[in-house]
Amino acid sequence: MGQILVYTGQGKGKTTAALGLAFRALGRGHKVGVVQFIKGKWMTGERHQAARTEGLDFYVMGEGFTWESEDLTRDQKAAQKAWEKSQEMINGGAHQVVILDEITYAIHYNWLALDDILQTLAARPEGISVVLTGRHAPQGLMDAADCVTEMNKVKHPYDHGQKALIGVDF
Ligand code: ATP
Ligand code: MG
Repeated sequence: MGQILVYTGQGKGKTTAALGLAFRALGRGHKVGVVQFIKGKWMTGERHQAARTEGLDFYVMGEGFTWESEDLTRDQKAAQKAWEKSQEMINGGAHQVVILDEITYAIHYNWLALDDILQTLAARPEGISVVLTGRHAPQGLMDAADCVTEMNKVKHPYDHGQKALIGVDF
């Protein structure tokens, strides 16, 4: 049996925890799929590493699009496309772990319907675990999950004016 895991909350560590789980699964010879529901504008360490990691399929929302405009329908389309990719990986059954990183934002902006997501999760093939990250996870998602972890911020360097650190934050 696979599990549904949710990493939410205001503290740092949601995406990091999901990637840590990916590392663990890859070490067991499992295939891992990652879909990032954020604009693919910034290069990150995880994207660099994914390109040279066998068994890790990494997809960033909006890749192949131009992201200069704040056009809502374009964002919505990109989120929809990313969700189609997510469904393909979840239903395909080839990836034992599928990570939907920052998907809660796409739900929050109503680019994706929570009911569609819950339906896909409930109908997923046996043995597939899905990790969903992002702040403000909706209650319905947390109800459907096997594991919910809330990252609690005690301190963050940003509070003291420190910028994102390469290799630590991205
Ligand atoms: P990470 O990717 O480091 O695991 P995260 O996924 O928990 O962080 P997000 O909400 O996705 O956090 O935000 C991503 C970026 O925002 C990261 O650079 C992270 O360091 C930073 N960040 C996370 N939490 C906070 C916070 N409480 N205050 C300021 N910046 C934060
Ligand atoms: Mg994150």
